Amino acid sequence: MNIISPVIADTFECVGSECPDTCCAGWGITIDPKTAKYYDSVSGEFGDRLREYTKEVGHKRFFTLNEEGRCPFLNDRNLCSVYLTLGPDKMGYTCKVFPRHTFVMDDLLLNYLSFACPETIRLYFSDEESMTFLTSVTNELKNTGTKMRPEEYNTFLHTLITGIELLQNRDLSIRERLIVFISFIYSQQANLDQDAGDRATISLFSDPKVYSQILNDDNIPDMDVAFRIKMFRLLCESFFSGNCKDHKLLKIYKEFNQYFQGKDIRELSSELCGSMDSMKNKEIDREMEHLLVYLCFRYILSDYTKKDLTRPLGNMIAFYTTYLCFLAVEMMMNSKKIDMDRRILILSRLSRYYEHNANTFSEVHSLMEQHNMSDVFSLMRVV
Ligand code: SF4
Repeated sequence: MNIISPVIADTFECVGSECPDTCCAGWGITIDPKTAKYYDSVSGEFGDRLREYTKEVGHKRFFTLNEEGRCPFLNDRNLCSVYLTLGPDKMGYTCKVFPRHTFVMDDLLLNYLSFACPETIRLYFSDEESMTFLTSVTNELKNTGTKMRPEEYNTFLHTLITGIELLQNRDLSIRERLIVFISFIYSQQANLDQDAGDRATISLFSDPKVYSQILNDDNIPDMDVAFRIKMFRLLCESFFSGNCKDHKLLKIYKEFNQYFQGKDIRELSSELCGSMDSMKNKEIDREMEHLLVYLCFRYILSDYTKKDLTRPLGNMIAFYTTYLCFLAVEMMMNSKKIDMDRRILILSRLSRYYEHNANTFSEVHSLMEQHNMSDVFSLMRVV
């Protein structure tokens, strides 16, 4: 099996009580069956607590969060009392591995760190260089997927590699990179749909002259802030009327909505545009690059069984746009710059809801389709 991991993943260490947030609050924490069985066997007062503060929901066992939404085993220094009392090897699988996750496509395994962890984001955002990756081969892991045809496998693999290279092209602005990236993904989708190889597309998108042709094409729509706000509001309405209970994000959105009341969309767009323009600097560009590369690495192949690259692309763009709008709104409302800690907090909270809820991606996709926001031109209008 081939393995690809961001180099930075090797340097990750949980910062425990120094963490500005905690991953042991605000969402369900599952306990795998083997650990649940072990917890049932623990004797004494701690064993009684383990049984009292865990519950079965459907076929899964969870920690029962307290009224503040915290894991009952998280102490007042934000340290885990299961870890402290029983030892690190007695933690459940989720608690042991977070924020490490994997994605498997055929004989390719992608290792990544979730952006739901603020320390992961801090590691990425502090890196001034482009994200680099390590590749390795192992015979230890069994291939769980079906064997794909080599042409298909190559198209997916090239989509991942070339897509990341396009997003890391620092000769272009972030919007320009995204326009080229969106064009590239649609070309690769056409190759998959026609069952054609992708060599011509890859050599085309390896040529920087092609980028200026794409970017100067009259058919490329201008960025449309009003459309961006429309997408942002649509997604937020859906998140907050559904199961997103994140009070930090909700507070920002509520303030924005109050401010929005009675305002003309053009007036608001120009205010928000000003706020977005003031964010244009090297530091934010670098962070956006890391975010987009992370999203590409994590998601662009996620619908490979359906041979679909455009749905993951739509979700990537929706995630990026929502984050961008949260930052712009926060800056506009408070007339101030947002420091990196605040940007990290907003992004990790968004990631928790967006990436770690089973249905969010399909709900976002349906909403975008329903409101004609998922086609290539709409995606280009919002980036
Ligand atoms: S969110 Fe990350 S740094 Fe914070 S406690 Fe969890 S794993 Fe550690």
